[in-house]
Amino acid sequence: PVDAAAPRVRNSYQAHVRWGARDVTVGGDAPVRVQSMTNTDTVDAIGTAIQVKELALAGSEMVRITVNTPEAAQAVPYIREQLDRMGIDVPLVGDFHYNGHRLLTEFPACAEALSKYRINPGNVGKGDKRDRQFGQMIEAAVRWNKAVRIGVNWGSLDQELLAGLMDENSRRAVPWDAKPVMYQALITSAVESAKLAESMGLAPEQIILSCKVSGVQDLISVYRALSQRCRYALHLGLTEAGMGTKGTVASSAALAVLLQEGIGDTIRVSLTPQPGEARTQEVVVASEILQALGLRSFVPSVTACPGCGRTTSTTFQELTKQIDDFLRAQMPVWRKQYPGVEAMKVAVMGCIVNGPGESKHADIGISLPGTGEAPAAPVYIDGEKSVTLRGDNIAQEFQVIVENYIAK
Ligand code: SF4
Repeated sequence: PVDAAAPRVRNSYQAHVRWGARDVTVGGDAPVRVQSMTNTDTVDAIGTAIQVKELALAGSEMVRITVNTPEAAQAVPYIREQLDRMGIDVPLVGDFHYNGHRLLTEFPACAEALSKYRINPGNVGKGDKRDRQFGQMIEAAVRWNKAVRIGVNWGSLDQELLAGLMDENSRRAVPWDAKPVMYQALITSAVESAKLAESMGLAPEQIILSCKVSGVQDLISVYRALSQRCRYALHLGLTEAGMGTKGTVASSAALAVLLQEGIGDTIRVSLTPQPGEARTQEVVVASEILQALGLRSFVPSVTACPGCGRTTSTTFQELTKQIDDFLRAQMPVWRKQYPGVEAMKVAVMGCIVNGPGESKHADIGISLPGTGEAPAAPVYIDGEKSVTLRGDNIAQEFQVIVENYIAK
């Protein structure tokens, strides 16, 4: 017998990222969460609120915004207000570097309006100031009862810590490799900072960790080790993944390996948008990764063959796209009307070779006629042949059949 593969489960603490009645749980037995980040200037409060709304509607369950200046900190409560007015209760995460301690202390309305603070231990201060400034941010999190992500990044790693570890290793008699020391520095920075935060009064359930790097194999090595070192919820993402296909494939490759091992409680796919490409694309990719792994369902999946010399015309491609677009467009309404609809499977196939078989495996499927076949498209519902469509309106008729099936 061959067992069906199932992703492993990691026993992490569960963090709560709240806004109003919305409580996005991260870690423990919660589903792996999708998150994203705006690329607007936060001072442009309306533009930022609009992009947060777009990302939230695309499926981002938390949205991070840059908070880098006093003006940006002042804009945060206003952004929150705009979102509340639009009925968008997605929690906002503040991204802080260098001056987060001052901004969170001097702008309490900003500290209150955010649901989570991202702290980068690599740039929170140097020497004596480091713990004090880090402490000020943790104090704000304790005071306002917020979650914190301690986010270490390969590109802004604590240089004092790295230099210390490099020095320690260079005194070894045996030859050594710098890369594992870098990994160790990343993990130590995250875990030690989390322990420090706990000693300052933050509960382990308020802490989420990340150690982001831009290489696929590096990310896998770092997160495997990190997950062994602690039980904090983990935010997972390949940083600076790049553009288009490269960014999508690299992120999918890295995240799939780790998620299959039960590592990662929330994910972000950091895609550089191509000119003219919507920012929401990274949310779509993140959701697709989780759905492809069978970890979550967001939209009914469409199984389609690639088409080949047996495919008679472009009808097959057009119908596949039409059905896919139609299902995605209906989801905001269907999700509320028909709970569970996102787990549905639809098949659109190009000929008799695999068409009937795949269609029977789906909840609802259609097998279009291939070259030399009779001009008929049998439709299968719940594994049984239901009706055969003919003529010029196959696409419209199949769409109506799908709609009726979902309503039933
Ligand atoms: Fe080609 Fe038919 Fe296979 Fe589609 S199902 S790829 S049309 S042989």
